[in-house]
Amino acid sequence: MTIVTRFAPSPTGNLHVGNLRTALHNWMWAVKHGGRFLLRIDDTDAERSEERFVEGIRADLDWMGLTPDGEARQSARFDLYERRFAGLVAAGRVYPAYESAQELDLKRKVLLGRGLPPIYDRAALTLTEAQVAAFEGEGRRPHWRFRLDAAPIAWDDMIRGPQRFDPATMSDPVVRRADGSWLYLLPSVIDDIDMGITHVVRGEDHVSNTAAQVQMFEALEATPPAFAHEALLTGSEGKLSKRLGSLGVAHFREAGIEPQALVSLLARIGTSDPVEPLADPTPLVAAFDFARFGRAPARFDEAELAGVNARIVHQLPFEAVRDRLPAGIDATGWDAIRPNLATVAEAADWWSVVEGPVDAQVDAEDRAYLAQAADAAAAIEWAADPWHALTGALKETTGRKGKPLFLPLRRALTGRDHGPDMAALLPLIGRERAIDRLRAAGG
Ligand code: GLU
Repeated sequence: MTIVTRFAPSPTGNLHVGNLRTALHNWMWAVKHGGRFLLRIDDTDAERSEERFVEGIRADLDWMGLTPDGEARQSARFDLYERRFAGLVAAGRVYPAYESAQELDLKRKVLLGRGLPPIYDRAALTLTEAQVAAFEGEGRRPHWRFRLDAAPIAWDDMIRGPQRFDPATMSDPVVRRADGSWLYLLPSVIDDIDMGITHVVRGEDHVSNTAAQVQMFEALEATPPAFAHEALLTGSEGKLSKRLGSLGVAHFREAGIEPQALVSLLARIGTSDPVEPLADPTPLVAAFDFARFGRAPARFDEAELAGVNARIVHQLPFEAVRDRLPAGIDATGWDAIRPNLATVAEAADWWSVVEGPVDAQVDAEDRAYLAQAADAAAAIEWAADPWHALTGALKETTGRKGKPLFLPLRRALTGRDHGPDMAALLPLIGRERAIDRLRAAGG
């Protein structure tokens, strides 16, 4: 059996980190099994769907490295939905209902007032022909409900384990509005059947939809796919949706996050396995398994992501980043700077300090010290660790230590009070430039 998964976003906004995680897991499962990963654009809602979001979804998946093996759009598939819908109507599994929203609301309130669950009473199933004719005569158009079967619904969820629902506790779901437009439930099932989806991987907010959809698969004479419902993400302070909902690829790119860092983190949070920062996700894919995921919310922590990102940056070869580096950094320069970076963008900062020119503002009382430092820099051994050689020599000859020893040197050599580790930086600045900068500051 070829494994086929799908990521099915509605193009009504930008993907957030929770969506990216779902997309990643669908992709990983398919890739792990040599299967297919499909992108399905759920754009049945013409009013809320926007082309720019469709483009954004494609670009985001591309940035993450999650290349779909195919793409489908629900808006191009209405004929298929119409045919399958007609079959369900003919079979009596989908029926017209004429209640207005206000009438349904009233029914719900009456039930709740009596302490009963607000389950739809199926009054539409007992309408006489005359009543239907009267509604139609008033100009009412029906909406359509899927008639749930009484048999208990069960599936073995790949994450949540055995699931059981009693249809008696559920309302027959509305599948189509009076204006003919589709709700999410039925077209999704029709597509999952038509596209041969074997595994549906999505958030646990869909669990009750799945209960109804399992019966829809059966009503359409298909075996339901396997389901994995993922626990939702939670923020680092336990604060959920608001902040996470605004964290998408645009934010991560701006923060200098590499796609591999996001992939490494999202592959593992919510599992009992440690996060491994891997520039090549192959081992993560090989080890990926829904059985590793728990039912507790997965904690997404931006500080953890930043840490993973730094460890990814430290692995990236020059070829992978050369387009993003300032002119002048070669492979040797990159290898020297790389271990000190939290983001690739920081390399530019380092390089501007290395190459100069630097505009050093030094205190008048440090001039003599810096002139001495220039002499010391000319005398030390540069091959090994010039920063420690230089500061060691100056400590001895001047008696300075701590800030008065280090800060004037940093200012003279870099033009700044803060910045990269001097021990890593000084070999890149090199002997000639360092002596020149110290002399200029000391003169
Ligand atoms: N469009 C639905 C959503 O974004 C798809 C859910 C599913 O994967 O079936 O929630």
